[in-house]
Amino acid sequence: MSTSLVWLRDDLRVADNPALLAAVDRGEPVVVVFILDEVSEGIRPLGGATKWWLHHSLAAMQDKLHRLGGELILRQGKAPDVLRALIRETDAGALYWNRRYGKPERDMDAAVKEYAKASGLDAQSFQANLLFEPWTVRTGNNTPYTVFTPFWKSCINRPTPPRLPLPAPTKLRAPTAQPESDNLEYWNLLPTHPDWALAFPHRWTVGENGAHAALELFLTTRLTRYAKGRDFPAEYSTSELSPHLRWGEISPFQVWHATDHYRREHPSAEINTNAAKFIAELGWREFSYHLLYHWPDLATVNFDGRFNHFPWGEADPEILDAWQQGRTGIPMVDAGMRELWQTGYMHNRVRMIAASFLIKNLLVDWRIGEAWFWDTLVDADPASNAASWQWVAGSGADAAPYFRVFNPLLQAEKFDPKHDYLQRYLGDYEHPLLSGYPMPIIDLLASRNRALEAFKTLGDIP
Ligand code: FAD
Repeated sequence: MSTSLVWLRDDLRVADNPALLAAVDRGEPVVVVFILDEVSEGIRPLGGATKWWLHHSLAAMQDKLHRLGGELILRQGKAPDVLRALIRETDAGALYWNRRYGKPERDMDAAVKEYAKASGLDAQSFQANLLFEPWTVRTGNNTPYTVFTPFWKSCINRPTPPRLPLPAPTKLRAPTAQPESDNLEYWNLLPTHPDWALAFPHRWTVGENGAHAALELFLTTRLTRYAKGRDFPAEYSTSELSPHLRWGEISPFQVWHATDHYRREHPSAEINTNAAKFIAELGWREFSYHLLYHWPDLATVNFDGRFNHFPWGEADPEILDAWQQGRTGIPMVDAGMRELWQTGYMHNRVRMIAASFLIKNLLVDWRIGEAWFWDTLVDADPASNAASWQWVAGSGADAAPYFRVFNPLLQAEKFDPKHDYLQRYLGDYEHPLLSGYPMPIIDLLASRNRALEAFKTLGDIP
């Protein structure tokens, strides 16, 4: 008898979890572990809001595994050291996990696999969190794609679609004695003084069940208007699956096939168009991971090297505070930053506006904004956050043209014409000039011109 160890990371689900299923299929007792590794070199420490999510997601996973007769073992420390100890403690004969795509994580996993194999274990990794493995999507010249549309076309035009989701195991065979586990409460993942996450539970049902409920709600009530509605922040038109996907409470395979199933069950041109748009957004997630895989420094290094000498302004702490706290005097930016503060989430359209304002009007280096979102978003994602900030800055792959500066006032008029979103997050919002709303911290036109002047250092502006 030799235990099968399952090492969970960002795949906190029992259904469509190939590593878990492989362990169950092996027939031996199964030990499932999650390791909080805040010490290994190169692993980016989690931000505050994702830690909040992780706490609840682990609690939900504990519950799921209990119901199957298993347990979730929690350990803290350098993951390779913890695993070595666990392999000894449990007399493990197999170690399984689902793949991740950051470079330090991949290096760690490769070293763990080497060690496990050398120790005689069956060590295997599985594709679970991306529909298309980054090394399999290549241009005709055998290079990684740097433009989204051909990337996505080459993915969806493959002769076979992504595999079907795998079932959840019906039972876990537990070892005679489970190894010791930390107590989740002592990991201090939740904020205390102050508890800035007090309102988060009103918005989110964390865990695998919550993820599937969100998908179901989306498909049955939001999909028909997705393509148009997704730009209007007051509407709840998008899936709000991002934090669930971030922690792998639901897999992209499940989302893909559930959407495809719904589309077939409700055949219409309208559903087809909206479903394709939704799946293409999932494609942006894939593209971001593709970029992270091939350009591991995506969160810190400009994809477009011309930006390396860009004259960013000094990030004045008072100005930065005003942006972070939603006190810039620009209503749409402030509403977005307050949505972020109150819920750990910000609507995509508003993310673009708030990021553009920071980068272009305030001329603050995109990395400073990326770091703030990393700390405050419940869906803070190593690939999508970095790729999106570079996209807005214009320094990214297939990015928005750097010389295009959003006008946050016009954006608000266009995408929140009745000011419903502004009112939701700014209270009794009327027009800024009528309501004693703070004066803008910067002149929009002058700062736009300053940005355009600065962008001249990058080359010709058409
Ligand atoms: P839906 O519209 O329902 O889309 C479905 C899924 O597709 C999302 O859950 C997400 O996984 C994926 N997706 C959608 N849009 C994008 C996109 N532009 N890039 C990558 N994946 C996408 N998304 C994150 O998941 N984590 C981040 O840390 C993150 N940071 C961002 C920072 C900035 C400055 C910007 C402009 C965007 C960022 N995004 C990030 C992308 C996008 O805003 C969110 O994925 C989206 O708002 C999540 O809401 P939703 O689940 O309702 O999306």
